[in-house]
Amino acid sequence: MDNLRLWHKFLEAIKPAVGPANFKTYFIKTILKSQSNSTITLNTPSAFIKENLKQKYQTLIENTFEKLLEKKVKIEFMVKEVELEAAPEEFFQPIQTQTSALNPKYTLENFVVGLSNNLAFAAAQAVVQNPGVSYNPLFIYGGTGVGKTHLMLGIGNALAKKAPHFKIIYCSSEKFMNDYVAAIQNHRMGDLRTKYRAAHVLLIDDIQFFSGREGTQEEFFHTFNELSSRNSQMVLTSDRPPNEIAKLEDRLKSRFQGGLMLDIQFPDFDTRVAILRAKCSEQGENLSEESLKLIASSMESNIRELEGKLIQLLQALKHKNLPSTPENIAPFLTQQIKKNIKLDHKKILDTVCAFFNLSLKDLTGPKRQKELVLPRHMAMYILCEDLNMTVEKIGQLLGGRDHTTVMHGRDRIKQLINSDREVQRLLIEVRQKAIS
Ligand code: ADP
Ligand code: MG
Repeated sequence: MDNLRLWHKFLEAIKPAVGPANFKTYFIKTILKSQSNSTITLNTPSAFIKENLKQKYQTLIENTFEKLLEKKVKIEFMVKEVELEAAPEEFFQPIQTQTSALNPKYTLENFVVGLSNNLAFAAAQAVVQNPGVSYNPLFIYGGTGVGKTHLMLGIGNALAKKAPHFKIIYCSSEKFMNDYVAAIQNHRMGDLRTKYRAAHVLLIDDIQFFSGREGTQEEFFHTFNELSSRNSQMVLTSDRPPNEIAKLEDRLKSRFQGGLMLDIQFPDFDTRVAILRAKCSEQGENLSEESLKLIASSMESNIRELEGKLIQLLQALKHKNLPSTPENIAPFLTQQIKKNIKLDHKKILDTVCAFFNLSLKDLTGPKRQKELVLPRHMAMYILCEDLNMTVEKIGQLLGGRDHTTVMHGRDRIKQLINSDREVQRLLIEVRQKAIS
């Protein structure tokens, strides 16, 4: 098993045993550096973490590895060294650096690591430690707004800092294509080659756009080979794995697959909360844990949009001069939902049932168990608030209930949203599901 896979398996195995807080503090930014016969070397981000891992977790770590590898192992701890290994002389040609194109906002330090992206993050760290050696190319793929560009620029910025003499080129795949087309038109292929093939680090974003561009692919293939033979690091991103990119030459696919391919998944709830926390502190804002959770539960996938929503929300609250409490945030999140989407009652009832794992018969039936009452009240509240249905009509829909019962249910939820965080969150999640 290679280092990254083993480390990933290890993390999955150890997480429940150490709990989320310790997991985050001690494990997530540590990486497995090497494994030889029976010794596993872990690279820790600081001496502090190294000491803690040793004192608190050495046995647990050993046992966990032993289970995974089915043999006895010894663990060695190191603190990550930042020095670059000596590189061959010709690597240091005084070529003008291109780092100005790297947006300094995106770094590895401010990249929040969670289960959805820790493998890709570990690979990024490995690349920074040993550019051109460990994983070449590093191919990162995943959906929109999951952090691919951020991670890639994080690598670029870290390398620029560590090795200021490196010529680092970051470009979108469009930029590469446009440069190629312009070079052909102006008969300046030589310049193009000088530019790209001189890179010590080449970062190309959204390479799926090479699809169907034969000339560009041809040129890139030669660039790739040249860089690869000189051990220049390449990092590529795409919204899908190479074999799913249509009209991409087989030889490029196999080159891409020859390095390390990793995906970034949509972030889980905890990671979304952590990202929001980080973005807030970047803005100099300090939201409570409950507020962050509330916002995190209002959106499941795209971090870019989640971030946008956070900023809008902070602005709206500032504008109205309201403190950013859950009570003030909740209406904003639901308002937005209401504004954008047309809902119908059937969809809402179906969603409530699916969410709470009930049948429509249960929801509308006469039984009054606790497990049925909360979902029923929520349905009443949502139908009332989001669809402006009359309480009489809602009563009919919910199995012929009296309108006073509906009013009671609706008001109960109104009250709970202000006092019960769990209900607040459930409500937002149900609404979110109903519109998606
Ligand atoms: P992609 O390239 O995958 O479409 P981006 O890298 O542009 O996504 O990320 C979208 C936004 O989300 C950026 O503002 C980025 O900083 C933020 N983001 C994504 N993942 C993370 C993360 N793990 N930690 C911090 N910010 C993140
Ligand atoms: Mg991107």
